[in-house]
Parts: sequence; structure tokens; C-alpha cells
Amino acid sequence: MATLRQQALGMVQARPRVTVTPPSPKISEYFGTNVFGNGRMKEALAPSVFKKVMEAIDKGTKIDPSTAEEVATAVKTWALSKGVTHFTHWFQPLTGSTAEKHDSFFDMYAGIEKFKASALVQQEPDASSFPNGGIRSTFEARGYTAWDPSSPIFIFEKTLCIPTIFVSYTGEALDYKTPLLKSMEAINDAAVEVCQLFDRNVRKVSPSLGIEQEYFVVDKALFAARPDLVMAGRSVFGHSPARGQQLEDHYFGSIPTRVKDFMVDFEIEAHKLGIPLSTRHNEVAPGQFEVAPIYEEINKAVDHNQLLMDLMDKVAEKHSLKVLFHEKPFAGVNGSGKHNNWSLITDTGVNLFQPSNSARENLQFLTFLVATVKAVYDHSDLLRASIASASNDFRLGANEAPPAIMSVFLGGTLSDVLDELEKNGNIKIEKGDNMYMKLGISKIPEIILDNTDRNRTSPFAFTGNKFEFRAVGSSANCGLPMTTLNVIVAEVLKGMIKDIEKEMNAGKEKKIAIVNVLRKYIKDSKKVRFEGDGYSAEWAKEAEKRGLSNLKSTPEALDIYEKKATKELYERHNVLNHIEVHARHEIMLEDYIKKVQIESRVMGDLALNHIIPTAILYQNKLIENANGLKGLSLDNSAAVETIKEVSKHLESLKSNVTAMVETRKKLNKEDDIVKRAKAYQKEVKEAYFDKIRYAVDKLELLVDDESWPLVKYRELLFIR
Ligand code: ADP
Ligand code: MG
Repeated sequence: MATLRQQALGMVQARPRVTVTPPSPKISEYFGTNVFGNGRMKEALAPSVFKKVMEAIDKGTKIDPSTAEEVATAVKTWALSKGVTHFTHWFQPLTGSTAEKHDSFFDMYAGIEKFKASALVQQEPDASSFPNGGIRSTFEARGYTAWDPSSPIFIFEKTLCIPTIFVSYTGEALDYKTPLLKSMEAINDAAVEVCQLFDRNVRKVSPSLGIEQEYFVVDKALFAARPDLVMAGRSVFGHSPARGQQLEDHYFGSIPTRVKDFMVDFEIEAHKLGIPLSTRHNEVAPGQFEVAPIYEEINKAVDHNQLLMDLMDKVAEKHSLKVLFHEKPFAGVNGSGKHNNWSLITDTGVNLFQPSNSARENLQFLTFLVATVKAVYDHSDLLRASIASASNDFRLGANEAPPAIMSVFLGGTLSDVLDELEKNGNIKIEKGDNMYMKLGISKIPEIILDNTDRNRTSPFAFTGNKFEFRAVGSSANCGLPMTTLNVIVAEVLKGMIKDIEKEMNAGKEKKIAIVNVLRKYIKDSKKVRFEGDGYSAEWAKEAEKRGLSNLKSTPEALDIYEKKATKELYERHNVLNHIEVHARHEIMLEDYIKKVQIESRVMGDLALNHIIPTAILYQNKLIENANGLKGLSLDNSAAVETIKEVSKHLESLKSNVTAMVETRKKLNKEDDIVKRAKAYQKEVKEAYFDKIRYAVDKLELLVDDESWPLVKYRELLFIR
């Protein structure tokens, strides 16, 4: 009988092409058709009601019940007209995916379709099965979801989806969205205050985000024949193919037809959902691709990214493909990240990270730039923790991904500007002087955007008019890193205002006061700036000398959440209270342990039930062969050598798997979750994963190809 692998390979060859045609040649004609956006709302609601909703969105205030009733009715009418029968609150629990619980509009007793304001505004999903880090004991399963009117309602899979926050009955956040929304207020508060030093007209500052999403695509049948991909999202075994990414031809090559059909399909659906996808291309590794939207206000960008991942999963099904969002699905080829392009934009239309021709605006630009650099320096460990996960650990610090060291890349031009500003610290500025000229900041070329050196090795890079946080993992919910970034920058901006005021109280003119503070901050945060090759071994050494952290594993990186200063920081900005911070720490540790456990089990199962039996059968064949040759008095040394090698790896495989299982049993008795996570990292993952993999990958090279049970890398990566 053919192995699962052989059957799967057969299926791949027989795949028919699946093409789709967009509803119209122009995207503008179907963009947002599945969204109850502002335009649609304006048409459907009375002007006074619409105004109230807009105000509530703008100010983040509550929508009163009668307004909610009107919105509910309008939404229902629209949804029914589109053939929708169910609605759901759509939220982002700390599991990392999105959650839904569908209810029907149909009211049997009334015999009609109903949708009340109460159902729009609030729901009580059975929250007991979502992680809560001990906030609620499981028997008290009450949590509720509450409508977030700032993110538009949409139709997905014939269901009306209402974006909501998810909180416990006692009010603690159980999701990613709640703190993100609060962090937007925190940074708005701080940034508006700083902007007012330059321009009294600024009333609001909002963070913008554009997320570049990397992913791998494999055939569905091949995926299904790899239990490790199914269970862990990652291949735990697999020898590198003869041809990896060393030819670097994939990046520039044309997109394979099957994948292109898939892209076109999910882009159409994304556009209908108002997700502004704009670019698609191959990535560095074979089988790896990227999609990116045009940036949006941060909360919407995060929602859209979560929705996009769901959507891609669903659409891939139609093309008999499987999308891998795991950070490192294949050893030896590039991993996947999610570059978070972040900036701050005022209600007067100014991007605060956009250098300009006007000297005054440039001082403002530098103020925000320096504040961000200082934030990364002061809180690098928090930023590191925000992207920590079992899956991202395989990517961070691996040779082709940003290292676990947080550093900032600014590019030559800006580095010079900051250096000069720092150096000119002692220049005396007299009344009537052109301060900007004297300090060398009168002109920062506007063309920086095209000028920024493309340093791809930095985890946090300035790219012309925005910062790009690249260390975020491809499977992550960006809510957490973006909440963190907003909070730490808000923190520095708040401190900055105080420092500037101090200078002014000491009699300094405002501009001078600002410059003095900037100089100090530039000096203080200098160590975090790095322009060289972030992937090099020298940088790790240099970073250590500079005293920068290099927290390579998740459990270690998460320790920062137990620090008093962390809890106070989040509390001070009204983003998370200390219970919520503690709960998140627990949830992330729990998640880490589970992931390592699953991988460890998958490794054990595959080794014991697939690899070892296959290798033994092959070994028997060899023994038969060796004996046969001997009987004929012929040289059997080749067979004997191979038998020895197979035996050696079998031996090592068996003993390491047994020892790993024993270790797991022992560790599961450890009650302290921090200790358990750290032990799983050291005593399970670090102690056994590589050894076990080494033995299996060697056996893959020895055992005859026909009987090898696992789909090989060359098949996963190159067949489509
Ligand atoms: P790359 O990094 O590949 O050169 P782009 O410059 O095209 O990419 O931008 C990547 C992402 O950054 C896109 O999603 C884009 O919309 C987004 N982006 C561009 N300008 C800003 C900005 N001011 N704020 C936030 N994101 C932005
Ligand atoms: Mg980029």
C-alpha cells in the first residue's frame, strides 16, 4: 500500500487550476461591500444619530441606548438584504486567534428577524474556555463582550461580525483589543501635549499601522501528511533540500500560478471586507510570500490583520492549499515575521515622523524621533517581552531574523543629525541667532524616505517617515507589541514635557529648552542605536559590552512582567492594572509550556510510530542483503556500514525520546509556572529537540526514499 506521503504526492499532481474573476475590473467598485462603514451608516441613519455615533467614535465615549437601537436596526436591515441570517460578537481573546459565537436574527416567538441594541452592544459568551490567567476561576464563567464602534461591523462567511472588546465580569481585560484602545488614549494624551509646544491647533494624535504579513504556502495534502505541521504548525523534522534558498532566485522570481490564483482570490475577499491590501510578492525562502495593506489607524489595522489571517485560511481551502503563519515552519530557510510600520499622525494631518522643509516642524519631528529611540532604550525588555512566544523563539536570533537584542536603526543621515545635535551641546545660542542653523537641524532632507538605507537586519528601524518594528512574529496578534510601543513612547513623552517645563522654569526659551532636553535624551539612549549588521556575531558581543539585553527565550523574556516598575508603568497610563499584567504573564507562560509540550509529544510520536519502525524495516532489508552477500562470499561491507549507521541513529533516537518523556513527566509536577516554563525551555527543548532532530534527519538520508513516511522538505517547498 502506498504511504500517506506517496498518496499526498499523487494528489498534488492531479490538482485542477482554481481561478477566480473579480466582481468588477475596478477594486473601487467592490471595496468595502461587506462592511457597514461610515458611508453606509451615514446613508442609513438620521443625520443627528449619525453625528452621535461619529462623536462617540472620535472621543471614545459610550453610545446611548436609543442611538444604539437605531444603529442595530440599520445594521440588521443591511445584513438581511445581503442574505445574512446570523450575527456574532467578534473578539480577540488571549489565545491569539479570534473568537465568535453565532446567534440567529430569527425570533421564533415573534416570527420575525430581530436585532436589538442590547445584542449589538453586549453579549455574554461562555468565557470559561478562554485563557484568563487566574482572573476568573473556571466555574465563574462570566465575561462579556462589548461593541467597539471605532472598528466597522462586517460580514464574514454569511455572518454579521461586530468587533468587540472582551472583559471579565469584574472589568479586567481578557483580550488584546481593550489595552490597545486604552494605549491609543495614553499616547494621544502625551503626544497632544508635546505637539502643543509646536502647534496649538493639534487636538488629537493617532497611531497608524501598516502590517506586512509573511507566510508560507504548502499543498493541503502534503500538509495533512505531516502530523507535525498539523499539530504544531512547524516541521519538527526534515533534512534541508539539496537546493534551499541559497540561489536566492525565489525572491525575484515570478509567483507560482497556483499561489497567484490563491492571492487574487483572498485579495478580492479582503477588499470586499475593506482591508486595503496593496502589495503581494515572493519572499526570500522558497514557498514563502508576503502581503501588505495600506496603513490604517492602529486599531483597525490590527483587526484587519486578524481578519486577514482567518480569511486566508478559509480561502486557501478552496485552492487545496494550507497557509503557514508559524514563525519558523522549516529549519534552514528563512522564518516569517510581521513588520509593524508605525507612525503618529495628528488631526491637522501631520505625520510626526515625517521630516520636512520647515525648521520648526523638523524640531517637532526630532522630538518624536528622539522620544521613540529613548522609549526603545528605556523599555527594551518590555518590547522584547511583547513579541515573545514559543514559535517566535525559533526565529529571533536564528541567523536570518532580527536578533532578540532590541536596537534602533536610523540610517546615516539621521544618525549624523543626532550626533551633531549631541556634539553641539555646548554651542551657545544667543537671542536672535538662527538656532536651527547653528545646531545643524535647519534642513533634514525630505528625501530621507528614499534615502534610508535599507538595513534589513534591524529589529526596529526608522524607514523614512515611520518606524518599522520587525521582530514581531508572523502568527502574533499585533495588539500586544503595539500596545507596548504606544505605552512606552507615551511614558517618555510625558517625562519629556516635565523636563522641558523644568528648563523653561529655569528661564530658558521654549525652543532652547526643547533642544536641551533632546540633547540629553540622545546621549542617554545612544547605546540602543546600531547601524551595522544585526545578524552578525560581532553585534551580539558589542551589544553585551553596551549592556543591552539579549533574552533568547520566552520564559526569560517574560520575567519583566513581574517587575513592579512594569506594573506601575501600565497602571500609570491606565492601560492595564497590576492584576491584568500578572494574568498576561501567566497566560503567556502557560501558552509557552503548552506549545513546547505539543512539539515534544509530536516529536516523540513521530519518532516512535513512524521513523523508528521505518528505519527498522529498512535495517532488516539491509541485514538480509548483508547475509545474502556473505552466503555468496561477496563483499558486504557497504550494507554492514549502513546497518551500523542506521543502528547508531536509532539508538540515539530511542534513548533521547525516552529520556525526554521522562523529563516531561517530572516537570509536570512543578507547580511554579515560571519555573516550569524555564525548565521546559532548558530541560526539554534545549536538551532534546536538536538531538532528536539530528538523528531523524540523518536517518532520512540513509533510509530508502520510497519507504520514508514523512513528506520531505523538497516536496513541501518546491512542489506546487
Ligand atoms: P517596505 O518596508 O517593504 O519598503 P513600504 O514602504 O511599502 O514597505 O511600506 C510598508 C508598510 O508601511 C505598508 O503597509 C505601508 O502602508 C506602511 N506605511 C507607509 N507609511 C506609513 C506611515 N506613515 N505609518 C504607518 N505605516 C505606513
Ligand atoms: Mg518592511
